[in-house]
Amino acid sequence: MNDAPNSIFSLILSGEIPSHKIYDDDFVYAFLDINPLTRGHTLVIPKENAPTMDTLSEDSAASLGRVLPKICRAIMQVTGAINYNLIQNNGEAAGQTVNHLHIHIIPRYSDSEHSFVWANQPIDHLDAKNIAESISAAFSNFLRSNLWAAEDNSG
Ligand code: 5GP
Repeated sequence: MNDAPNSIFSLILSGEIPSHKIYDDDFVYAFLDINPLTRGHTLVIPKENAPTMDTLSEDSAASLGRVLPKICRAIMQVTGAINYNLIQNNGEAAGQTVNHLHIHIIPRYSDSEHSFVWANQPIDHLDAKNIAESISAAFSNFLRSNLWAAEDNSG
């Protein structure tokens, strides 16, 4: 699924495919999903051609984070939704169908019936300790080696 340069969202960003625009700046574009789960279902994408969250540059991530709350607020104000979900799939096995990072904002109405069901289990504290420490160490290594900067693909 490594077709990020030619994904449908690249064509939307270049204007070759039309979209219902909600927000646009140097780093971020937001538009309505073509097959909305509910009214106002919005996609927020970085302009950077990153397929998944772990590949996104810090600059684009910061830009996404800066505008997301305001886009959510605007959607809530206009739609009258009672709540909303942010959904973000990374990779085909995780349900990602377009290979360009995107965040779904899905308003929930009083009569909405959709669900995002998963079969969760009580945590195994022994394993949790191991994995939490390992992830924390990997994160520290990223910071130490400045890997994010080195792998920054924003240019
Ligand atoms: P994913 O399953 O990858 O998390 O979500 C991809 C989303 O992109 C889907 O909800 C789908 O409806 C939406 N989508 C796919 N193609 C287009 C398009 O051409 N225009 C718009 N606006 N949305 C699209």
